[in-house]
Amino acid sequence: MNLKGKIALVTGATSGIGLGIAERLAAAGAQVVINGFGDVAGALAELGRHGTRVGHHPADMADPAQIAEMIAYVEREFGALDILVNNAGIQHVEAVEDFPVERWNAIIAINLSAVFHTTRLALPGMRRRGWGRILNIASTHGLVASAGKSAYVAAKHGVVGLTKSVALETATTPITCNAICPGWVLTPLVQQQIDARVAAGASPEQARHDLLAEKQPSLEFVTPAQLGELALFLCSEAAAQVRGAAWNMDGGWVAQ
Ligand code: NAD
Repeated sequence: MNLKGKIALVTGATSGIGLGIAERLAAAGAQVVINGFGDVAGALAELGRHGTRVGHHPADMADPAQIAEMIAYVEREFGALDILVNNAGIQHVEAVEDFPVERWNAIIAINLSAVFHTTRLALPGMRRRGWGRILNIASTHGLVASAGKSAYVAAKHGVVGLTKSVALETATTPITCNAICPGWVLTPLVQQQIDARVAAGASPEQARHDLLAEKQPSLEFVTPAQLGELALFLCSEAAAQVRGAAWNMDGGWVAQ
């Protein structure tokens, strides 16, 4: 799969799954703009190894005005936006009656509303240029629920629904929209949940094992590199009729 000449934007790609997908797209020849906070220089250095042009935009995915600036930046500075990967996401675990309203609002804004904003802003250019791929990184929590994750589960189910609507609105065009639903991936977002178990008294090994054993029958983490390969496939012409899918890669999580 050769993505030479294609321009990709991956939100929340300074670590974890987003960085894994950005790397795979860059390795296939795409020019890649990443977004996100934290170790931007480190992420850009890793991506730069692939020899294609890379960039970063610091938009806060909770702010529609900054999202609009980011899409305009990519189209102006790189000339197009062909592959949009909506990946930025946050988590908060607490019972619904104790859930902080501010955390609920932030999760809905970053994990769900941002996908609406990037999509509505990127689609006109994709339609004009006659090609596009929109990949929404949802979760197994877009398909099934877990206790303590009301906002995340609501947002991810919303992402799966939004994916289907956009896929229908683009069904007769060369633009596809699909969701990827990962199970557990060992990233900073999941490390926080392992750390919480360690703080409650488990050893790090036990905490990792218990986290997997509760949900993921393979007892192995999915890797960002594996998700990068699935993302690349969904960008290919072989995937041109994959539309509105919510494709789980989850060690058997939702087969149960
Ligand atoms: P991560 O914490 O490694 O990365 C999150 C990224 O989002 C970082 O680049 C961070 O800077 C960025 N980000 C956070 N808030 C932001 C904001 N307001 N604006 C812009 N960027 C922001 O997390 P990850 O585990 O790689 O998660 C990536 C996506 O995959 C998320 O949508 C998450 O819900 C989803 N996911 C993760 C898992 C998992 O097990 N790790 C499983 C299923 C789905």
